Amino acid sequence: MIAKRGRRRFPRQIPRSEADMDKVDCVVIGAGVIGLSIARRLAQAGREVIVLEATEGIGTITSSRNSEVIHAGIYYRAGSLMAKMCVSGKRALYQYCRDHGIPHRNCGKLIVATTPSETEKLQSIRAHAEANGVDDLQLLTGEAARALEPALNCDAALLSPSTGIIDSHAYMLALRGDAEEAGAAYAFHTPLLRARAGGGRIEIEAGGHAPMTLACNLLVNTAGLSAPAVARSIEGMPVGMIPCAYLAKGNYFSCSARAPFSRLIYPVPEPGGLGVHLTLDMAGQARFGPDVEWVESIDYAVDPARAERFYPAIRRYWPTLPDGALMPSYSGMRPKIVPPAVATQDFLIQGPADHGVAGLINLFGIESPGLTSSLAIADHVGALVEL
Ligand SMILES: Cc1cc2nc3c(=O)[nH]c(=O)nc-3n(C[C@H](O)[C@H](O)[C@H](O)COP(=O)(O)OP(=O)(O)OC[C@H]3O[C@@H](n4cnc5c(N)ncnc54)[C@H](O)[C@@H]3O)c2cc1C
Repeated sequence: MIAKRGRRRFPRQIPRSEADMDKVDCVVIGAGVIGLSIARRLAQAGREVIVLEATEGIGTITSSRNSEVIHAGIYYRAGSLMAKMCVSGKRALYQYCRDHGIPHRNCGKLIVATTPSETEKLQSIRAHAEANGVDDLQLLTGEAARALEPALNCDAALLSPSTGIIDSHAYMLALRGDAEEAGAAYAFHTPLLRARAGGGRIEIEAGGHAPMTLACNLLVNTAGLSAPAVARSIEGMPVGMIPCAYLAKGNYFSCSARAPFSRLIYPVPEPGGLGVHLTLDMAGQARFGPDVEWVESIDYAVDPARAERFYPAIRRYWPTLPDGALMPSYSGMRPKIVPPAVATQDFLIQGPADHGVAGLINLFGIESPGLTSSLAIADHVGALVEL
């Protein structure tokens, strides 16, 4: 199925010979928030772009299974791509939301310490954030934090004023519209099956509703959880440069009671995760999570029994959470490229200078803060192809 408002005639059939093969300048694999951002960036720079998407529409996988938080950039390793792109992406995203009327709220977040030893850690969190360019964190006493959020139990807290929330679907629709206006075309139900790189171009074969082959100058692999598998299907891509894929599921619980908070509430992080935190959607509805569950295969069902771990964790900062209030909600899969024993990973964005394949860019491990960083990631890819 082809959906486009742009100018380009779309190839429909497998050509009989190489001479018949349709040519296009750029092909983007995957219409999640990262593929959409990159397609927009390329199209607005005047490049001819086709986005191939395996499913029926935009943003149906990880991009619609997240917390919709505009992250400040506090925790990421200093100097990492995550740290840099979160901070610059956050600014660009707020500006984009304002310019395009995307529903969002710069609600802020509180990182709450509930013991004296956690209170000590708040200083080092603030110092770490400053090294990442997040210099607006405010240290609050328990009393000052409760003046903002009266239902909160805490000894002290850090206020992050630049954290916010966004309607991610409205954002992705706007990205798609921008790209289409600049001439990009989208092919849904069209998975990339395999590709072959050589002679300065990449030939690709897609299946699904309208099987086709195409030759392109630039192939951008933004297949999310499948990005390592897509890279392995490209003849000429050095296999040793492709990371292994791991899955860390994040489970969410919704709350039947109205949560008495107007900011996002995060505990002091613990080794291995951010702890069970409270985020809000644009309607003000609270959700808790995501937790971290390493899994072997994709199954988005949320086990209700996991609520037993959520209750005590949440009651540390919200003691009056009613019994029975938590309900299994949804889950998302973090596209990990490091195994559980490795505490942190960074975005891995490879261009020809890394893997030696002309015209190929791979994006691996785009987990959180990928939504926040999406416009910065698109600029980074734009710089790699010298836009
Ligand atoms: C639990 C969780 C919570 C998160 N919370 C936040 C948050 O609050 N804030 C934040 O900034 N980030 C957050 N993130 C991160 C953010 O959601 C991701 O970084 C972002 O959605 C990744 O987008 P993507 O386009 O790379 O991947 P996806 O959205 O998965 O898109 C990839 C697309 O590629 C398609 N595809 C796959 N294989 C093929 C193929 N062979 N051919 C064609 N198409 C193919 C898929 O169908 C899919 O549509 C969270 C992530 C998780 C898992």
